[in-house]
Amino acid sequence: MNPFSYARPADVSEAIRLFQPGSRYIAGGTNLLDLMKENVARPTQLIDITRLPLNDIADTAAGGLRIGALVSNADLAWDARVEQRYSLLAKAILAGASPQLRNMATTGGNLLQRTRCYYFYDADTPCNKREPGSGCPAREGLNRIHAILGHSEQCIAVHPSDMCVALAALDASVLVEGHAGERRIAFADFHRLPGDAPERDNTLADGELITAVELPAENLSTHCSYLKIRDRQSYAFALVSVAAALQLDGGVIRQVRVALGGVAHKPWRSPDAEALLIGRPADADAFGELADALLAGAQGFADNQFKVALARRAIIRALSDAAEGAA
Ligand code: SF4
Repeated sequence: MNPFSYARPADVSEAIRLFQPGSRYIAGGTNLLDLMKENVARPTQLIDITRLPLNDIADTAAGGLRIGALVSNADLAWDARVEQRYSLLAKAILAGASPQLRNMATTGGNLLQRTRCYYFYDADTPCNKREPGSGCPAREGLNRIHAILGHSEQCIAVHPSDMCVALAALDASVLVEGHAGERRIAFADFHRLPGDAPERDNTLADGELITAVELPAENLSTHCSYLKIRDRQSYAFALVSVAAALQLDGGVIRQVRVALGGVAHKPWRSPDAEALLIGRPADADAFGELADALLAGAQGFADNQFKVALARRAIIRALSDAAEGAA
């Protein structure tokens, strides 16, 4: 591991003031410490944000919920308001990691976790995400866990989070603060596709700190489902996951949300595909139509072409479970 300095500020403005090129904020450390041990991340300064006052969950005036960036994944999943009003989020969080990791991992950190591409973690191989311009061995190599949507010549990695898939479906916002002040980022605009700059996972500016995630008022907990398909039943990342939620009126779809995990560099969603189902009966034909629209253009590689058909079936099953109000 490389040498680094350590600072533990007491408030957000001090944390931001301390940030310099080469600095990294650290909270739970469940991903960053692994990256440092593997020599993939080499920060010159760690800014420990665990003492910042960012660990509350509070109702907003608009009827939503504001989740502090330091709220642990476990506390968030088991919060009574989340269980009742945003059960899709609770299901997604509990599908991820392990109890020990969920106790340490934070809301802000979950958004910032990095891909689990095998080559990214092997500092002895080329990787455009780790060393821009060095190449992408995953394209011709082992790519079972890689993207089928939104990939580029430079990178075919996927975002590993379950929580973020639910946050995308729930139209969350990310509140950040940096040298230029505060701003709010729509969840759909927070993570980015790799394009020709795969080293950038998100749209944060240098030194910007996530302070909270905000959920709008929603009525999507009666009919929702999080379906995660993986190689083993626990402590594994998704090959494909689906966050699905419906608002039904006598079996007719009034609102539908579907976001996919494990298939792209960011949670994958299409409001245009969802709009196709408004006013339609909640049945397998409609769900299949949405799946086809959401997966339009999907293209796998040697080891992961199976994900296209798997994702289609998973979308239909998740929406069917949601329609039935299945647990
Ligand atoms: Fe690196 Fe992305 Fe290629 Fe994986 S898929 S080797 S992260 S450039």
